[in-house]
Amino acid sequence: MVRKLAAGNWKMNGTRAALEELQALAQAHSDPAVDILICPPATLLMSAAELVSGHPLDIGAQDCHTAPSGAHTGDISAPMIADCGATAVIVGHSERREDHNESNDLIRAKAESAHAAGLTAIICIGETLAQRDAGQTLDVIADQLQGSTPDGATGVNTVIAYEPVWAIGTGKVPSLEQIGEVHDFIREKLTARFGADNVRTIRLLYGGSVKPANAAEIFAVPNVDGALVGGASLTEADFSPIIKSLE
Ligand code: PGA
Repeated sequence: MVRKLAAGNWKMNGTRAALEELQALAQAHSDPAVDILICPPATLLMSAAELVSGHPLDIGAQDCHTAPSGAHTGDISAPMIADCGATAVIVGHSERREDHNESNDLIRAKAESAHAAGLTAIICIGETLAQRDAGQTLDVIADQLQGSTPDGATGVNTVIAYEPVWAIGTGKVPSLEQIGEVHDFIREKLTARFGADNVRTIRLLYGGSVKPANAAEIFAVPNVDGALVGGASLTEADFSPIIKSLE
């Protein structure tokens, strides 16, 4: 059994005051049975990593550049993220694919840069509502998975997050059958590409409107190894019950 992962994506939310929620989370989970990762905005990375040092919580970033350093105003590199004390980075979130026109090739290069810096890359994939309605979900998933995942992916350096774009921040969640279908499909594709031994340890997260009320049933779906949680990760009161449902 792989260790499950509860990952929180704070997106562009949180000033230093939000670290109180992280503190509360660390206090509430001194010996968790799952891995806990919080991805705050870049401005809080270093203080968040310092805060959780000595606690069984990890800190991740929400994006990185493909290059380790250079003339890229406003960007942050994977080695800089590692230098902050973070251990992971989200790449290819649908909000970045859409708002910043990120392609599969770019996302794969970001994941490779994360790997080179010793970070775990959490690679996000997911279909839009129009794609689902057109019956293209599995084609889109196959294309994004193949194109965004580096050849060097392992269970240690890579996590895949399935996040249907239409479920993010909307309160809409796919049926458990729909989640199961896509997660089984991702597992099959990864097995075909990387072999069964390696791939079993690559964790597959579900993301999109995960809340305390629906977490347990989603986590009971086979091949769901955890969650990537946006809105409900912002407070300890919401995120703790989700973590508990995974344990
Ligand atoms: P949500 O966001 O939980 O607020 O729907 C999930 C995500 O975008 O990772």
